[in-house]
Amino acid sequence: MVPGLCFGCNAVLYRGEHLLCAFCRNELPLTDFNFRDENPADRLFYGRCRVKKVSAMFYYPENGIVRNLIHHLKYRKQERIGAWLGTWYGQQMQEESNLKNVSMVLPVPLHRKKRRKRGYNQCSRFGKAIADSLGAVYSEKHLVKVNHSRTQTSKDRWKRWKSTEGAYRVRRPMELEGRDILIVDDVLTTGATLEACVHALEPVEDKRLFIAVMTVVP
Ligand SMILES: [Zn+2]
Repeated sequence: MVPGLCFGCNAVLYRGEHLLCAFCRNELPLTDFNFRDENPADRLFYGRCRVKKVSAMFYYPENGIVRNLIHHLKYRKQERIGAWLGTWYGQQMQEESNLKNVSMVLPVPLHRKKRRKRGYNQCSRFGKAIADSLGAVYSEKHLVKVNHSRTQTSKDRWKRWKSTEGAYRVRRPMELEGRDILIVDDVLTTGATLEACVHALEPVEDKRLFIAVMTVVP
């Protein structure tokens, strides 16, 4: 991708346009979700794990623009897309009274092999920008992905984690105690990955968990 082209439609960007042309920006399928009212993303987690509130910026993939953005973010080394989305979302989050005590932002972790291959976690810049907006700490050290094996996990756990192709663990749970924590991810589909992350944070006492994703599959 040559700089100066729209990530949505490949049109040449005009002065003042950033990453997306004005047309694509207007066509972005924004959800009207917030961190107060119940929305369909919340309902995905009902009865599965304890989360205070879930929200998403866009629907995916209602049109090609969001699909192209996420594709470039994940596979074309365009981390700046994550920074841009995080800055945008972070500004909205500053207005959310339910998020005013969030002091820690954690991305859904990638396994280190995958991270090495990709070169980055596609949620890093997104999460950092949001943490900056909220005056929170951004950490990739507290929630980690580990390989699981049949010998190390019971059958029930194996079943639970099978669909997420891995297990997540919390490190230094004491440092997360008593906090409002925001978990960030790129695409919310079935919620299995985020559910596994929430379960991994079970050892953390007296916490409130929030989830913010770039996109949600309707
Ligand atoms: Zn465009």
